[in-house]
Amino acid sequence: MSEKIVVVGGGLAGLSAAARLAHNGYQVTLLEKSPKLGGRAITIPMKGFNFNFGAHAIYARDISILSRLENEINLNVDWKNFSPSKAFYDMGTFTTPMPTTLEGMYKTKILDGSNKIRFGIEVMKTLANLERGEEGTPIGKYLDKEPAQVKDMFLTLASSNFFSNEPEKIPSPLFFHYYKRFFGNMAMGSHRKRAVSYIGGGWQAIVEAFAKIIEKNGGQIIPKEKVTRVITEGNRVTAIHGKENVYEADHFIFCVPPKECYNLFNETPYQHIFEEFTKYSPTIVVVYDIGLKEKIRSPFTYVYQKGERVFITDISYYDPTCIPEGGQLLQAIAYLNDDEIAENKADEKVATIETVYDKHFPGWREQLVAKRLSKKAIVQEIKCINDQRLMPTKFYSLSNAHFAGDWCQGEGQLSELSFTSAYQVTSHIMKKNTTQEHN
Ligand SMILES: Cc1cc2nc3c(=O)[nH]c(=O)nc-3n(C[C@H](O)[C@H](O)[C@H](O)COP(=O)(O)OP(=O)(O)OC[C@H]3O[C@@H](n4cnc5c(N)ncnc54)[C@H](O)[C@@H]3O)c2cc1C
Repeated sequence: MSEKIVVVGGGLAGLSAAARLAHNGYQVTLLEKSPKLGGRAITIPMKGFNFNFGAHAIYARDISILSRLENEINLNVDWKNFSPSKAFYDMGTFTTPMPTTLEGMYKTKILDGSNKIRFGIEVMKTLANLERGEEGTPIGKYLDKEPAQVKDMFLTLASSNFFSNEPEKIPSPLFFHYYKRFFGNMAMGSHRKRAVSYIGGGWQAIVEAFAKIIEKNGGQIIPKEKVTRVITEGNRVTAIHGKENVYEADHFIFCVPPKECYNLFNETPYQHIFEEFTKYSPTIVVVYDIGLKEKIRSPFTYVYQKGERVFITDISYYDPTCIPEGGQLLQAIAYLNDDEIAENKADEKVATIETVYDKHFPGWREQLVAKRLSKKAIVQEIKCINDQRLMPTKFYSLSNAHFAGDWCQGEGQLSELSFTSAYQVTSHIMKKNTTQEHN
């Protein structure tokens, strides 16, 4: 008899864990409180447009879990490569190419000649593991030894990858670990320089692909089933309660945020282990999508307004399935730091975004058909800054409970944390060697 698994939460972490285990012969039941699967990775149809909550950009694609799952469980991913020649920094008075390729590095004006060389050396040192940061030192302080332009370049890069308005607070060891992996992926050989890729069909396509694998392998998906209670006996979870049903299993995977774990374990002796993680602050952004009747011509598919830390992506350039014929879907994201959140600065960010749209996509107001605005979108449940830490995927006092999500320890940032933590958990259950390198 194969083991029974209950997965709580149908976001990217829960879906990927359930699909991998179902594919490997486990009896999987996935419980999701909402009527729709996907969690924060949802796609919302409106007036012929498909608005994705988030740009579904996958960083370091070639070493990503999604790439691995393509081969391992036949996950269907329609990759759409980021176009570096159409990616620019808006420096206020001029725009300049992003240095994401050698050509971009040659052309960009974000660094002058000697600083380009210095930056290149720092990238090589990161790749060679000669730069590893310093425990307890945030990257802003650590980079004080660099020329101002080089420091600024690294922090600008980190603000994009970590979706952060305070990249200087990222712990320096995490920073170099992240970029060793990221730059390494770009340098993997001439045909493998895919630092960023989007997903054709948006998050919806991935969510449906996972659901299909779960159901094809006999797994059960139960929407509108909010888990309310966890029952433990000794060091094991024995059951969880839904609205009316009780679910028993050999292993339980909780793919719900720490605050929810804290509530669910309320009547057990284990509630306290989640407390620390309920106190940490999330990464929050303003996200403002616009659906346009006609395409506005622009040399950019990605433009980053450096001064305001606002970026616009032409999502429909990468994913034409999200627009009606002839239309265009643009997504703007403005990063927020803790002070800005406390001072309710989201409205100011909305106004800033509109001026950036005016500058780079003039005439958008006349073409507007539909828009979607979120002034407080949670990109990552626990922000990776000094004095905060991600939750473990396993507490050894609880032998058959596992945890995954973008608040858990794993590789990368954003959804990559959801996927890698889920992969770690499923490997643990399958007793596979998780340290084995891909490829
Ligand atoms: C604006 C924005 C832009 C983004 N852009 C990117 C990007 O470009 N690239 C990228 O990689 N990532 C991006 N992200 C991040 C990405 O969306 C998240 O990291 C990812 O979706 C998190 O998935 P998860 O499964 O870890 O968590 P969640 O999506 O939060 O899933 C948790 C699930 O648990 C369910 N649940 C909660 N409580 C219960 C309960 N008691 N019982 C049953 N179910 C329950 C919830 O309904 C939810 O479905 C972006 C996010 C945002 C908001």
